[in-house]
Amino acid sequence: MCAGAFFMGQVFFGEKPGFAPNFSPKLAFPPRVCYNGGMERVNFHAQMLETLKTVPQGEKLLLHSCCGPCSSRCLEALKDAFAVTVFYYNPNITDAAEYAHRKSEQLRFLQETGWADFLDCDYAPQEFFSAAAGLEGEPEGGARCYECYRLRLERTARTAAERGFGWFCSTLSVSPHKNAAWLNEIGAALGQKYGVRWLYNDFKKQNGYLRSVRLAEEYGLYRQNYCGCLYSDWTKRPSDGKTK
Ligand code: SF4
Repeated sequence: MCAGAFFMGQVFFGEKPGFAPNFSPKLAFPPRVCYNGGMERVNFHAQMLETLKTVPQGEKLLLHSCCGPCSSRCLEALKDAFAVTVFYYNPNITDAAEYAHRKSEQLRFLQETGWADFLDCDYAPQEFFSAAAGLEGEPEGGARCYECYRLRLERTARTAAERGFGWFCSTLSVSPHKNAAWLNEIGAALGQKYGVRWLYNDFKKQNGYLRSVRLAEEYGLYRQNYCGCLYSDWTKRPSDGKTK
């Protein structure tokens, strides 16, 4: 269990990661069929801004977050429109110490800002290895990442439905390394499946990524220079300190 459990008004623990019994993630979405399926030119950020104008006060949103730095900009954008709970489900971070470090930084950021509640999961890297099976050699940004997005968003959508959230979303699009079209495609499909509204987004727009860097500096947050999994392409990237 997380050592950061003590501070927030609402902190929840102990959900067992896993899919619904009869659901196969690799069959539910045909692999590679819908990649970039016509959504590339959609301005998801503008769409989100329009939605935020119309959301009634107090609506609950479950925000999947990969790390503190990425959550910073997203929470800044969402906190006045929604009652946000950060959902930390990242079995893709295959190194346990790295996982613990990122989570502790996420918790510290929430403690210092009070911008959201926090909902934790048990650490279960085997969930990621199952989703990535057969795709280990894929380049970063390829089919393995698509499955990785889907794994994390699926769990978020299902949890949102189980816990009475009206909306769900993810911080992943704030990174220039993540594919917003895929994320929105997957999120929208899962929203339909679970009956929870997906908040279309592309948080990197309007200098969103830069803003996340600035906020991370302001709060002294640890910023990793690789994405998370064992297969992340961190060895080939310049050590520019960019959060993935
Ligand atoms: S590189 Fe990142 S997004 Fe892709 S599979 Fe690994 S952890 Fe997931």
